[in-house]
Amino acid sequence: NLHPIRRALISVSDKTGLVAFGQALAARGIALLSTGGTARTLREAGLEVTDVAELTGFPEMMDGRVKTLHPAVHGGLLALRDKDDHVQAMEQHGIAPIDLLVVNLYPFEATVAQGAGYDDCIENIDIGGPAMIRAAAKNHAFVNVVVDVADYDAVLEQLDTHDGATTLAFRQQLAQTAYARTAAYDAAVSTWMAGAIGAPAPRRRAFAGTLAQNLRYGENPHQSAAFYRDGTDRPGVATAVQHQGKELSYNNINDTDAAFELVSEFAPGDGPACAIIKHANPCGVARGETLQQAYLRAFDCDRTSAFGGIIALNGRLDGATAEEIAKIFTEVVIAPEADDAAKEIFAKKKNLRLLTTGALADPLAALPAFRQVAGGFLLQDKDCGHITAADLTVATKRAPTEAELADLLFAWTVAKHVKSNAIVYVKDGATVGVGAGQMSRVDSANIAAIKAQRMANTLGLKDSPAKGSVVASDAFFPFADGLMEAAAAGATAVIQPGGSMRDDEVIAAADAAGLAMVFTGMRHFRH
Ligand code: 5GP
Repeated sequence: NLHPIRRALISVSDKTGLVAFGQALAARGIALLSTGGTARTLREAGLEVTDVAELTGFPEMMDGRVKTLHPAVHGGLLALRDKDDHVQAMEQHGIAPIDLLVVNLYPFEATVAQGAGYDDCIENIDIGGPAMIRAAAKNHAFVNVVVDVADYDAVLEQLDTHDGATTLAFRQQLAQTAYARTAAYDAAVSTWMAGAIGAPAPRRRAFAGTLAQNLRYGENPHQSAAFYRDGTDRPGVATAVQHQGKELSYNNINDTDAAFELVSEFAPGDGPACAIIKHANPCGVARGETLQQAYLRAFDCDRTSAFGGIIALNGRLDGATAEEIAKIFTEVVIAPEADDAAKEIFAKKKNLRLLTTGALADPLAALPAFRQVAGGFLLQDKDCGHITAADLTVATKRAPTEAELADLLFAWTVAKHVKSNAIVYVKDGATVGVGAGQMSRVDSANIAAIKAQRMANTLGLKDSPAKGSVVASDAFFPFADGLMEAAAAGATAVIQPGGSMRDDEVIAAADAAGLAMVFTGMRHFRH
């Protein structure tokens, strides 16, 4: 299964490491073929190179759209060296075999990420490159295909350890990587086009990402895992800069994402906000006069759960806030920016990871969201449903006060980011009790009330902070019982989608308890 490399075709957009690799191949007696820019770079380094144009008898034309699309190239890549009629065809048409193909593609993903216009993106769709990669990968019985600069050294090592040849197993690995690359490339093109033409989510979609990093393990230590980037430039965990601390784990990445997506709902113009996440659910979310105050108020909601949590902030992390955060063990802090004082304080906390994103994420951006089920994927639009005061209808005799209304909208926004069934108590722009992920809505309401009471115990408050709070429910109350639970805990106002068969019953119960209740007409299930 060893096959020698005698001729290589190199055609690369990213010319990193090209000269050194070309020299190393030439030094091993391998003849070099190349396209325009690549050939020029190699020649300038003093290497002997044959132009593909010479091989095909055609010049590169149409702005490079047609360079290598020719039987002299594809025949050389695809011919089976051990099949008589293939060998005969090569001889008859003067086609020489190509044993190594080195291609990296036009930088389509980078062009999109730079915000290039439609025509520019179209021109950066590589045609000849993927065609050659797919041909070479198909013929891996004889041909080596390299699509990643990082694999140059491995090729040389093979050559040196196998007397100028490579093993079949090595060529198979290269081929598998090559198909992952062309699949990801076309997926990037399709995803960009879907955005550019405004295609709805259910339309045929392809997903692929590029491997960002292999993770130590997955959700549990016995699961292997990796992190992929999809090439979009949304501010968040995938594009953030990590300033310190060890590598993020699978669960860290998931929780950091949840934290940052939640805090991004709070525009900096509306004041500082902080979200603390544990197991992908918020255990405290608050606004404050300062970022430090927002953090402290979020922390107060559930100090026990906040230990070892993930903290997201909607503004520039400052020294005073960092000082507070550093007082307990925290896994990750993510913010748009961090000042030098904050970085200095965190530098003493070796295990704390600090990430900055440059900006908040746009909560209204239309994005596809998918999850895996056995045998398939579920695809939907990301939940970017957004409610303002104007969207609400008052269902009860009493309308909410200004202060209640502000808290209702805050609670509703938080509830959107809590696993269903979600019940969220809020007072003065801070959560005071979060009930998450229960199979029954009454249980969630009950747990949220218990947590509010626990907050009172921890902070030595006279009353449960649920008293005089407002409550959000991510979906309608199917019966009055969940609502009564909230009223018993002391909530004075309710926000929920409405639309239950028993809305009348629920409204009557709210009126009897003197509650103000508003309907959003929209729900926020999250599973
Ligand atoms: P060079 O810098 O050598 O002029 O061009 C290298 C780039 O051209 C590589 O990214 C390669 O994938 C791409 N390429 C090679 N052949 C063709 C072709 O026939 N059509 C197009 N559109 N791109 C090609």
